[in-house]
Amino acid sequence: MENVIRPKIVISKCINLAKTRYDGGIIKDEFAEKLGKFVDYIPVCPEVEIGLGIPRDPIIILKSEKDRLLQQNTKRDLTNDMENFSVRFLTNLTDSVDGFLLKAKSPSCGVNDVNYYSSLETLNIIGKTSGMFARNVKLLFPNFPIESEKRLIDKGIKDLFLTKIFAFAHLRQLKEDLSKEKLLEFHSEYKLMLITYNQSNLRLLGKLLSNLNTLPLEQVYIIYADLFRKSFSKNASKGNNVNTLLHAFGYFKDRISPSEKAHFLDLVQDYLEGRVDRFSLIEILRNFSIRFNEQYLLKQRYLNPYPKELRFV
Ligand code: SF4
Repeated sequence: MENVIRPKIVISKCINLAKTRYDGGIIKDEFAEKLGKFVDYIPVCPEVEIGLGIPRDPIIILKSEKDRLLQQNTKRDLTNDMENFSVRFLTNLTDSVDGFLLKAKSPSCGVNDVNYYSSLETLNIIGKTSGMFARNVKLLFPNFPIESEKRLIDKGIKDLFLTKIFAFAHLRQLKEDLSKEKLLEFHSEYKLMLITYNQSNLRLLGKLLSNLNTLPLEQVYIIYADLFRKSFSKNASKGNNVNTLLHAFGYFKDRISPSEKAHFLDLVQDYLEGRVDRFSLIEILRNFSIRFNEQYLLKQRYLNPYPKELRFV
């Protein structure tokens, strides 16, 4: 089973794509470039979209009863323009996006690391906040992956982001050609992944699908999709991954040699102690699955969450 799904990702245009920054610059990001081979980007520069030129006076977020987005030198208030653009742009994206890759620290795009000012005169920084465009992204897409290029340097954050965008793209694709059989097949393919990330949601999803005839299918899909997306709110622990890996290993433990068994269990210990990542174990399980033609495991997305080429970028 290969990944042929292409997630749709909104990206800040100044990441690799155009010189739209306030100073006429562009950000070069290696990961975003590699990711671009496997996803369809939807580029946007909110500041250019609301009519600001390149280059332009920098803008800041000012804390007040209702926070303001202001141009530092001209004192021009851009709050309403940004709100209106963000809502219009994001509402049009419903059902056609799987995640967001936004520029860190920007008063428009920054996810959670934007300087928060108490006064335009003194430029006193009182903390960090989210950019005005990013606030609307979070509001309208609460369970979607929303990350900055800076946070995606972290291996764990990157792994969760990739897992989610490919799973959510698959979920979006399912809606385009929805049938009871396809929904059940989808659920079956994500069983090991759901056991690893959120066992209680797996139980709820299973319960929902056991009553498939009591609600219209479109309604079941909406409830399923919402719960499915909520299942990946945080990364799975090593302990949960080990439980899943050993569960999958159980399919083969009586069919392989003692030395193969010992090697796998050694690697589990190496994984627990940080000497190898979980993909070393996953590759062995994929190998056993091919050897013994274990179709259920070969179809499990847990063993193939995203393209191999993205594992080590
Ligand atoms: S951070 Fe966002 S608003 Fe700023 S230049 Fe990049 S895309 Fe445009």
